[in-house]
Amino acid sequence: MQSWDVIIIGAGAAGLMCAIEAGKRGRKVLVLDHATKLCEKIRISGGGRCNFTNIHTTAADFLSNNRHFAKSALARYTPRDFLDLVEKHSIKWHEKTLGQLFCDTSAQEIINLLLEECRSASVTIKHPVTVKNVRPLPKQASGEKFSLESSDGTLCCHSLVIATGGLSIPKIGATDFGHRIAKQFGVPLTPLRPALVPLTLDAADKEFCKTLSGVSQNCITSVKKQKFQENLLFTHRGLSGPAILQISSYWEPGKSITLNLLPDHNIEADLTAAENSKKTLTNVLAPFLSKRFAQEWVERYAQNRTPADLGSKKLRKIAEDIHNWVITPAGDEGYAKAEVTLGGVDTKDLSSATMESKTQPGLFFIGEVMDVTGHLGGFNFQWAWACGHAAGQAV
Ligand SMILES: Cc1cc2nc3c(=O)[nH]c(=O)nc-3n(C[C@H](O)[C@H](O)[C@H](O)COP(=O)(O)OP(=O)(O)OC[C@H]3O[C@@H](n4cnc5c(N)ncnc54)[C@H](O)[C@@H]3O)c2cc1C
Repeated sequence: MQSWDVIIIGAGAAGLMCAIEAGKRGRKVLVLDHATKLCEKIRISGGGRCNFTNIHTTAADFLSNNRHFAKSALARYTPRDFLDLVEKHSIKWHEKTLGQLFCDTSAQEIINLLLEECRSASVTIKHPVTVKNVRPLPKQASGEKFSLESSDGTLCCHSLVIATGGLSIPKIGATDFGHRIAKQFGVPLTPLRPALVPLTLDAADKEFCKTLSGVSQNCITSVKKQKFQENLLFTHRGLSGPAILQISSYWEPGKSITLNLLPDHNIEADLTAAENSKKTLTNVLAPFLSKRFAQEWVERYAQNRTPADLGSKKLRKIAEDIHNWVITPAGDEGYAKAEVTLGGVDTKDLSSATMESKTQPGLFFIGEVMDVTGHLGGFNFQWAWACGHAAGQAV
């Protein structure tokens, strides 16, 4: 039986960061992953350029049953800390928008950084390796707490870290392994659902969006008090783009979302003033909305009538609808298209300082497998680095 100080299952962002920190402390670390090609999620992230952090990260950028849980780890490993690592590896980066930092060239550079840091911290990575089962060991003098049956033989360790991520994008290796391990050890889970995901619409709204497929519009999306001002993208299946992905994390099935399609300009005065002019409604709207959108909107909501024809009451209603377009999505595009999984290992069972389970000492959960989900914009990687770093100091 091979014995290790630390075994980490999952060689993604959180798992590798934890391995680096534990390795630097002189711990004998083994990372196992079932994938043939490592770090696929990092490779496809940020459109291939990896939005590796967000310089404005705070705990308010995360959804969790415990809104305070992320504070400790985020304070001890900041975006500046990861940027120092990026700069140490001479990776060129830029801020795209809203504090989002991307590689200039390729996400592969972040993968290389992690693997090089693992090498210099003497971390062993084995893949593809399947873990068949995990068992707690009876208390023993040597201190090992877990044994694992794997395709690489029987392994045992003092600390076991579950870093197998969430359920999104199963075709590149996402599994429910971490959630199953939590259940096996009696660690509670919060409900799971896809998040940062495009939303689908019922037949009538879908038809409308289909005609606008490819059109993008700056807007404010909101659910209750939560608001995001970013771009909305119409697709042939429904609604996408950053504004929709962000609000999807707050949307609940059966509930509606509100869109302000003109957040920076109140259109009511333009519309009512047009009542006494010869302008078409499309011409009034087109300077503010995209022309295609204005045309489709006028056809659907005003049956192509002129402002004079509509009258001030109806024009005010059109303005109200543009600023408060209420849509009830039919659903979402599921884990196949979701960037992240909402919910996971309940943080009330975990130490916010170390990510160790209170129910099962020696067992740690890090990254997306936990009930900590970031907004779009580099926050999910910053969480992976921060909680991986925190666990790496403790395992
Ligand atoms: C398309 C897309 C783009 C994204 N872009 C960004 C972005 O630009 N910025 C950002 O902050 N976030 C982004 N995210 C989210 C981000 O990728 C994740 O939040 C982050 O990778 C989570 O890190 P993790 O280490 O917890 O899990 P992962 O990175 O998913 O790693 C989990 C690892 O566990 C392995 N594994 C799973 N099951 C098993 C098993 N049974 N046995 C062994 N190994 C297993 C997997 O192979 C994988 O290597 C994006 C996500 C997607 C899907």
